[in-house]
Amino acid sequence: MSEVGIEPTYIGKNENLVFIVPKELFNMSLGPAEVLDRESAKLFSKYIRGTFRGFQKARKTKYGNENNTKTQVPPDFWEKFEKRATELDVDLIGYTPVNENYIFKDLKLYGKNAIVLGMELEWEKIKEAPGAICEIELFRLYKELGDVTIKLAEFLKEQGYKSEAHHPFGGKLLYGPHAVAANLGILGRNGLIITPEFGPRQRWSIITTDADIPKTEKKDFNDLKEYCEKCGACVRGCKGGSVYETPIEKENGVITHIDRSKCIESILENNYCSYCLRICCPGIL
Ligand code: SF4
Ligand code: SF4
Repeated sequence: MSEVGIEPTYIGKNENLVFIVPKELFNMSLGPAEVLDRESAKLFSKYIRGTFRGFQKARKTKYGNENNTKTQVPPDFWEKFEKRATELDVDLIGYTPVNENYIFKDLKLYGKNAIVLGMELEWEKIKEAPGAICEIELFRLYKELGDVTIKLAEFLKEQGYKSEAHHPFGGKLLYGPHAVAANLGILGRNGLIITPEFGPRQRWSIITTDADIPKTEKKDFNDLKEYCEKCGACVRGCKGGSVYETPIEKENGVITHIDRSKCIESILENNYCSYCLRICCPGIL
């Protein structure tokens, strides 16, 4: 038995997928506060604190699952769940079994299925990237989506399904490949998931659960794929010079278009950068 009283569904085995949130990212508060009026600085501080609090709270959602053994759901269960999620401002929902290969090494994960949740970043704020306005929007969303993810995971637990929330700022599994498997979008050349709805302008979270998930219908993303292959605006425009012209496959099997360390440098130097969100056509309004 584990420390939470139940066996985890999976323990991350992928040697090449180690969970690290660069510690500098937890010290982001100085950026915009220096250049913002008092009200905006207060708001930013609220979102950043809410993000980190939510991040820690999500890690505790594994508790309280001891008696959750149900898997079968009634016929209208997901319809009702989606209504609830939409009322909480979730914009995109998809379902896919958890892919073990994308769980971070040694992390214990509860639930065999993944509910992938996406929330839109507002264009009016993203078009100001890089800068404080965009950075505040990112942390607003991390906080909001984080809180909603925890709320929905707790709802599933109350219904008797073993479930765990994974915060948008960092979860126990990779979101990108699960969002693609759930038919929500494609992997863009900027390393982000591009959706027909918002281009790259969303953030993701996941709830892992033992509840049986519905089948997701296959969507045709061919136009989006073709567009992305020809475009290359993010390769040319990346502020940190961190987008590869040709993607590389890492040892863990993850296809990446991004030199993560260069990107993090730019994020730290340029108010969370995110210029790639601003220049990606499918997301521009
Ligand atoms: S900027 Fe262009 S190439 Fe880059 S992800 Fe967006 S569509 Fe694809
Ligand atoms: S956040 Fe900045 S450095 Fe990173 S990929 Fe986007 S544009 Fe490049």
